[in-house]
Amino acid sequence: MIAIVLFGKPGAGKGTQAEFLKEKYNLTHISTGDVFRYNLKNGTDLGKQAQVYMSEAKLVPDEITINMLANEVEKNMDKDGFLFDGFPRTIKQAEALEALLKEKNIRLAGTVALEANDDILVARILERGKTSGRADDQDEAKIRYRYTEYNENTAPLIKYYQDKNVFHAVDGIGSIEEITGRLSKVIDTLI
Ligand code: ADP
Repeated sequence: MIAIVLFGKPGAGKGTQAEFLKEKYNLTHISTGDVFRYNLKNGTDLGKQAQVYMSEAKLVPDEITINMLANEVEKNMDKDGFLFDGFPRTIKQAEALEALLKEKNIRLAGTVALEANDDILVARILERGKTSGRADDQDEAKIRYRYTEYNENTAPLIKYYQDKNVFHAVDGIGSIEEITGRLSKVIDTLI
């Protein structure tokens, strides 16, 4: 089995692209944001634990997030692998992921980043907020705070994965189809 990490700032288009890529490569798509929102909506213990952080656009603590991800992986060992979206977001999460993949005998084929500049991304998220129903997409201060979180906690993962020779970047500006094409071209060299 393989794992691919889709990497990129909020609004970069990870979720949109994951919908195509999971079909194309027969992967289970795990979006930690989606799993948290599902738990929030259903009022589970996990949802209650995550709520305070999510409502403030902060990262949910690593321990909670890592346990949740391990559970999702455990439940979905039936495809050719995993497409992670929104995980890892900290070095600690990346280390936990490495241990988990090793334990499950899953190869980290690569991490692929969708790149775009912040102003374009904030505009996209505000647009998405009109229909997504996500409170964190409707408030510019919360959106900006997610970029602060990204720069402080997630950006260091670029070097972390570059040092392991598994980091790839793709231009995230263009039509959905164009970007799927760019991502597929990279992924085809990884699997
Ligand atoms: P976006 O990428 O647009 O910020 P996500 O759906 O990926 O949206 O995440 C929404 C929220 O869920 C984050 O602001 C954070 O509170 C929480 N979250 C998602 N993934 C993680 C993660 N890997 N670690 C910690 N918190 C996370």
